[in-house]
Order: sequence, then structure tokens, then C-alpha cells
Amino acid sequence: MRFQRHTVTSALPYANGPIHIGHLAGVYVPADIYARYLRLKGEDVVFIGGSDEHGVPITIKAKQEGVTPQQVVDKYHKQIKESFEAFGISFDVYSRTSDQRHHDTASDFFRKLYDTHHFVEQESDQYFDEEQKQFLADRYITGTCPHCGFERAYGDQCENCGTSLNATDLINPKSVLSGNPPVLKLTKHWFLPLNDFEPMLRQWILKDHKHDWKTNVYGQCKSWIDQGLQPRAVTRDLDWGVKVPIEGAEGKVLYVWFDAPIGYISATREWAEAKGKDWEPYWKSNDTRLVHFIGKDNIVFHCIVFPAMLKAEGSYILPDNVPANEFLNLEGDKVSTSRNWAVWLHEYLQDFPGKQDVLRYALCAAAPETKDNDFTWKDFQARNNSELVAILGNFVNRTLVLVHKYFNGCVPEVSQFMPEDLAVVDALKTFPGKISISLDNFRFREALAEYMNLARLGNKYLTDAEPWKIFQTDPDRVATILNISLQLCANLAILGEPFLPFSSQKLFAQLNLEGNLWHMAGNIHILNSTQVVNAPQLLFEKIEDHQIAFQVEKLAKTKLLNQIVQTPVEAAKDPVSFEEFQKTDLRIGTILTAEKIAKTKKLLKLEVDTGVDRRTIVSGIAGHFAPEQLPGKKVVVLLNLEPRVIKGVVSHGMLLLAETPQGGLHFIVPEGDVDNGMKIS
Ligand SMILES: [Zn+2]
Repeated sequence: MRFQRHTVTSALPYANGPIHIGHLAGVYVPADIYARYLRLKGEDVVFIGGSDEHGVPITIKAKQEGVTPQQVVDKYHKQIKESFEAFGISFDVYSRTSDQRHHDTASDFFRKLYDTHHFVEQESDQYFDEEQKQFLADRYITGTCPHCGFERAYGDQCENCGTSLNATDLINPKSVLSGNPPVLKLTKHWFLPLNDFEPMLRQWILKDHKHDWKTNVYGQCKSWIDQGLQPRAVTRDLDWGVKVPIEGAEGKVLYVWFDAPIGYISATREWAEAKGKDWEPYWKSNDTRLVHFIGKDNIVFHCIVFPAMLKAEGSYILPDNVPANEFLNLEGDKVSTSRNWAVWLHEYLQDFPGKQDVLRYALCAAAPETKDNDFTWKDFQARNNSELVAILGNFVNRTLVLVHKYFNGCVPEVSQFMPEDLAVVDALKTFPGKISISLDNFRFREALAEYMNLARLGNKYLTDAEPWKIFQTDPDRVATILNISLQLCANLAILGEPFLPFSSQKLFAQLNLEGNLWHMAGNIHILNSTQVVNAPQLLFEKIEDHQIAFQVEKLAKTKLLNQIVQTPVEAAKDPVSFEEFQKTDLRIGTILTAEKIAKTKKLLKLEVDTGVDRRTIVSGIAGHFAPEQLPGKKVVVLLNLEPRVIKGVVSHGMLLLAETPQGGLHFIVPEGDVDNGMKIS
């Protein structure tokens, strides 16, 4: 069917942190390429983005930082929006869910479903903090994990063993707000009975979209539906979000999963109002194609939950496709905001100013379209140096340099086509079709690879023709070669616009071209001989090894920090009084001699000068230190430990060592020059 207009949405990033390359590769680069492509084809398209600003994590972050939730979302909404703009993500509107228009839209949507009896009301016991007088969201309750005994598990998940939990599963639950044990209290909520929509979803996804949805998306949907769908709470007890617009629902807001996708609709309304357009056809007309770009963690919401909501409302269309991507890993590890394992867009821009297209290119070339994929800095460098610089940039630059050298920048005329010229002209004609088919089917990597193949074609043509060798003898032949090369450059400018918008724009300027020339792609008459091209400027520059080493180093530091943070440590012991602590007599000493104790593996007999005396201490460190390493070593001695007989040797005191979780031992040594016998207190 021929669609009259396109509504293209991209997942709303959660406004509690900046965005990283995983977001860009998974959602925003492909969505932007697709929206640009549709616009270039002359389609009526609205490309929607916005920040998701509700939900518990934002309220928790606000509490931690001592600010309001609004201040949290204001900060990150601005930062996220700026990152998108910097990377050329060409939203027609970038909205936010704390906007009043969104509150109204979401509220009306709920009201309509409520009035048409689509919800089930249900009362249940939930944890309540009596001191703070509020119900506690799962993340506001901590306690001991019933599976692994971890003492700081959350009400929805134990981060130690990864088990997902119910708040009532926790042993010794405590409210994060007051520290008190919460009490169970009855509360009423509204549920969307997803199970009622199962027949509709089976038909619509499993039958109607069996062949045009990506297999990873289809597979996940099938597995969800086959497991059986359950009613899902659409409201919760919280004070941050869209208020539930009915009586008796004070202190309750819409669950963020319910209000966030409605954000696409609110944003469309915002855009339409600004443009003086009617928003409704973009959501309610059967000749509109609705496409959601998301990551795989969002599949269930966009393929099952949101369509059920739209169907329940009754006047909306359903998405025609949901080309969700898998995840992008970074240097072999899962991208993680909390572990800072990411390349943040604002940091990338500081380290690689003006190189937005390089990242767009590298991310699209390695996009996790059908399975998780890995981003490495080495690969990023190779994509830039061996492809963007060596193929695309090199071809364009050589062409423009030669046109200036031999023809003063005037577009030379074709005199006569040779067979090798015709072969290139014929090949060129096939590229727009190949690229379009790939884009129409959401195969962005393939489309980009085809685009680079066109640059390869030009590069090879120029290298084989060697115009610089024949200009003296055959300037007409050179004119033909360079005309064709220039037409290829123009095609690269036109076809590159969805993928590399900044470089495409530069190339347009160098070729003195302007406007939307997409319909001219594949053509060798884009530039004619009355035109002049500008002096070449490099489109891409080499990325040096030290720049990559710097990034790799940065990640290595992050990894080290994470290891320190993640190292499991024993819980603190019960407190002792100062008087008790003072009973210990700790002194600086020096090991004088060390020898193994016969028939033992671990024990060394040490003579130690403690300043007070020379004494024998038996220490279980033979597995870690050779006796000959030890004489002369400064140590800390616990002087007044009761003597003990160990393997027939009387040990007077103990040496202090730190033990790593892996079982490594490290002496505690004084800093600077400290004499034996000095007290430690
Ligand atoms: Zn656990």
C-alpha cells in the first residue's frame, strides 16, 4: 500500500543522565538516517523525539542530590537535546514529558480508557512508610535478598545476584526514606488487562507481520505472547508524574510505561501546533505509516503494551514496523551508565571536535541490527582512516585537485565515452536503487556499505585511468575522466546526506550544488560544463594512534575504578571503645632474618627488631614471600599479642598485612623514614 505520510518515533531517552554511543547506534542514528531518507524522497514525514522525565529513578536521583525532580530533568533534558543537535539528529520536534501539553494528552488518554471501562480496579497490600506518610515504590525499599543474603537488595531486584524480586520477598525490609521498617497497607490501582488483547496481538503481529518485521523483534513478541499476557498496573503511588485524573486517586500518578509512549503523541501535537497543521492524521489515518525506532529492551512496550493501549482507545493506528536493534557493547563489555562504561556524546565532541560524521559512520557500520555488536576504538580508527579518509575523502579530494590543476575548477566536458567509462556509468545507475531497498527494509549497515562501494568505484576508476599521466598527450580524455569523476562526487554528496549529513553538506558546498537533488542520484548530468567547483578542502582527516591510545587509556582507568568499587569486602565489625583500641600496642619494626619452618608450606620464622626488643614471630606468609626477600623490610608489629606456640616455635606478636580478595598479601609499611619501636596510634 502507498502511504501518504510517515510518523517516525525514536525511543524517549530517560532524563537522568547523558546519552552515549549505545543510544546513538541502537536508535537515533538509524532513525535519523531513515527520516532524512524519507524527506529526501519528498515524503510527508514527522520525526519525533523527546525526553522521558517521569518515574522513580528520577525522584531518587533528586533526593540523592538534594534537588527537585524538575531540576534533575531540566539539567539532563538540556544536555541530551544539545547532544542530539550536535550529532545532526534531525528531529522535527524534540519534546519532553514534563510539558503541560503532555500531561493533558496523557491524562485525556487515561480518562478515555477509564470511561470506556478498559481498566480493572484492584486493591492490594503495598509497603507504606508511616513516618513519611507515603507508599513506597520498589526502589524505595531495601532489605536482605532471600536468594543470596545480600543486605542491600532493592524491592524489585537484587543487584548482587541479579534475581528480580517483589518488595514483599525482602527479609528485614527498610524504607529508604526514613530507615524504618515499612508496613503493608491496602491501596487501589488500575490495571490494563493485556490478556484481553491477546487474540488481536496474535493476529496482528504473529500472522500479519510474520514476514516484514525483523526476526529479533518478531521472536521476542512471540515469546511474550506465548507466555501468556497479564494485566498490568497503569497507576502507582508516587508524587512525580502525570496525576491520575479521577476522584479517589489522590497521591497517584500514571505509571511511566503508560505515560511515556503517549509522549510521542504529545510531541506530534506540539509540532503540529507550531506548524499550523492538524496532528491527527499522523496518528489516526490508515494511510499513515507509523514506525517506532527503539532498542531491544523496549520491544515489549512498543509491540505489545502501547498497541494494546492504542487499540483500547480506538481511534489510533498501530505501528507498521518496529525495527528494534540489539545492544552495542563497548570493547567487549556491556555499556553501563552506572559503571560509567560508555562513550558519552558530550565527551566525544570534546575529544573529536567536528567529527560527528565519523562516529555516525562507525556506529552505523557496526550497528547491532540483528545481534549485539561491539564498538572498539581500533575499529573506529580503521573505519575513519581506511574508509572515510582513504576511500571517500581521497577520491573526492583527488578529483577536485585535478579539476583545479587542469581546468581551473571548471567542470570539463565529456568528449567521448570509452568502454571503461560506460561500465562506471552503468554501475552508478544501480546504486540509488540498492541503497533505497536497504533503507526501506531498515538494513542500514547494508545501505551504508553500498554507499561506500560507490566511493570505491570512483576511487578505482580514477586510479585505473591515471589522468595525471596523459594530460600532456590527451587532454580531451582527461576532461572526460574528470567529468565522470565529478559526477560521481556529486552522487556521493547526494546519497551521503542521510548517513553523513555534515560531510555531505561540505561536499555540496565544494561542488557548488544546493537543494534536494535526491531524484538526480544515479545520474551523470548533475554538474554541467558551465559550472565551477570550489577548491578542495579535506572532508576527513586521519585519526592518529595517540588519540586512540588516549581513549583506550580512559576506559582502562574506568575499568580499574570499577574493580575497586565492585570488590566485595567484608562488612564492618561491631564497634570497640577507644579504651579497648588503646590496649593494642602497634609498633614499627624491621625483619632481620627469615627462614622456613620445616614440614610446613606456609610458615616462616622471623626475627624482628621491634625497637623494644628482638623477638621471634611466626607468620603464615611463606606462600607469598621467599625468605631471602624479607630481611631489612619495615613492618608493623602487634606487640602485645599473647605468645603462641606454632609448630613448636613460640611466636611473640604478629605482623600486619592486607589481604586481597584473590588471596594476595601486602605488608603494611610506614611512609617515610620511621625508626623501629615508633608507636602507631
Ligand atoms: Zn541476591
